[in-house]
Amino acid sequence: MGIWLKFSAMIEDNNNTSELMLFGIPASPGIAHGPVFRFLHDEVKIATYEVEESDQAEEIKRFLEALEMTKSEIREIREDVAKNLGEKEAGIFDAHMLVLEDRALIEDVKKEIKESGENVEKCVHRVTGKYLSFFDQLEDKYLRERAVDLRDISRRLQRCLSGTTASGTAFLDEPKVLVSEDLTPSDTAALDRTKILGIATDLGGQTSHAVIMARASGVPAVVGLRGLTEKLRQGDELLIDGFEGVAIINPSETTLFRYGKVDVQRRKLINLVEQESSLPSQTADGKVLNLWANADTPEEVKKSIDLGCEGIGLYRTESLFLRTNSLPSENDQYEEYAKMVEAASGKPLTIRTLDLGGDKLLDGLNQQREANPFMGFRAIRYCLSNPAVFLDQLRAILRASAHGNMRIMLPMISGVGEVIRTKEFIAQAKRELDSRGEKYDPEIPLGCMIETPAAVAICDLLAQESDFFSVGTNDLVQYLLAVDRVNNEIAFLYEPHHPAVLRSLKQVASVAGEKNLPVTLCGEISGDPHFLPLLIGLGFDSFSASPSMVLEMKFFARRFNQLDVEKITREAESKFRPSEIKELIKNFYEDRVSEASVSETL
Ligand code: PEP
Ligand code: MG
Repeated sequence: MGIWLKFSAMIEDNNNTSELMLFGIPASPGIAHGPVFRFLHDEVKIATYEVEESDQAEEIKRFLEALEMTKSEIREIREDVAKNLGEKEAGIFDAHMLVLEDRALIEDVKKEIKESGENVEKCVHRVTGKYLSFFDQLEDKYLRERAVDLRDISRRLQRCLSGTTASGTAFLDEPKVLVSEDLTPSDTAALDRTKILGIATDLGGQTSHAVIMARASGVPAVVGLRGLTEKLRQGDELLIDGFEGVAIINPSETTLFRYGKVDVQRRKLINLVEQESSLPSQTADGKVLNLWANADTPEEVKKSIDLGCEGIGLYRTESLFLRTNSLPSENDQYEEYAKMVEAASGKPLTIRTLDLGGDKLLDGLNQQREANPFMGFRAIRYCLSNPAVFLDQLRAILRASAHGNMRIMLPMISGVGEVIRTKEFIAQAKRELDSRGEKYDPEIPLGCMIETPAAVAICDLLAQESDFFSVGTNDLVQYLLAVDRVNNEIAFLYEPHHPAVLRSLKQVASVAGEKNLPVTLCGEISGDPHFLPLLIGLGFDSFSASPSMVLEMKFFARRFNQLDVEKITREAESKFRPSEIKELIKNFYEDRVSEASVSETL
């Protein structure tokens, strides 16, 4: 469970010289300590040097040994995947084996070593590069996608040649703290979370999708720890403090003792929060709050419903695409969406149409690298320009709607036209299903995410075409403040407490209220308890958050009333600076929650 209450263990007078403290951005609450696992997702740096003719046989031998080592890694992964996920999923690794056994490839590398007089790493890189550009140019989609296998294999081969660790976590024999320069959402999707104690990265921002996934699974994370990966040495241990955004390399006994005390306090609070888990979600004076969950797997849906959530306020469907690193067929999508809606047991599942682009890229999708990916070919823009992909998804969603209670939600809307065009697509998908005799919910509600400044400005117009709104503050903050949400150079400017954000939220809540349109918040601030009284004061009563935060939100809500809400909102609206607003809501939260812990102890 994520618990945001800060129990400061920061060291004021630290004379210890062997430990090294680095400051980053707190991304997911909690403390983690353990051995380091260096996660490599980038291309391995390719060493380049000349090799004497007399040493070429040795280079060929290194190549053949690396091939064998790679094959045995693949065999192990295949077995693991077959055991945990099934034969079908394991089949992808058969394709990898075929690449490794391809005679033409092997002969080409040997020839390159002899003709170029260069080292094997460089030769493998050059030969696989030639194959890759050939595959990339092919018309045939299936063959083009083989490039993904080859890219994966060539990375693995390079790692075996350079003796660095493979990128997956399947190899971890004990839980470790994962350290990486950066993480992509597909890296995070592939992690075995039972083996990850915590996550620390050099780059990244608080609302990058990899971090959101870490938070959802309750894994502590600190991002933006510039230079961390360079400073780590073989055998180092790392402690990360996801409350304060601190990482300590090789913490001393004293530091560990201090953090041990923090952990005890934290566990005490978790206990208190759990004791209240079945009480109603309401403020101290009885104002009812609707707590929904953001969930991407049937297990998370079930967990959220068991926690008493109203429903699922955000299902990011791209998570399925990223997990499989492919465009799943209509049928595969239908099966997954049906499992999701069934797990919701009659409560609404808000399914968001594909939101790829930005920091969420698929290898096989042929997405172009863009200069400004978050302002580019993303989300609804991608879907409206790719009718086949969009219709596959809409048909799958509609078919799954026959299994329960579903709502469709559109990401990154910036104009009414996008909603109207989507309605035409939905009508077409319905006609196609009618002709196939398939069942669906003909009245399935359609809602818009309000996450661009344009959507805020025209929310009265969007309301006329929508059945509900959901405010995506992660994007709204980045677009409103013009601050890239994953760029850690400017992470200090990514301020959800900014008066411009508060004013926009108030505007949306007020328009939705006038139009009697249900509105939920679903960005990360919606699951950050510090914000709760302020968001209520701005006009919201419906929040969708990571399931790991839901109980704490409820615990806190039960400790303030309408007078507190009005006071804190008035004060926040009178402040000019985001830092003052941040301080205000943080102090209020800490006072009320520590008061609760103290009174329980007495
Ligand atoms: C948001 O932008 O607030 C949101 C919920 O969507 P995502 O984080 O997936 O962009
Ligand atoms: Mg968004």
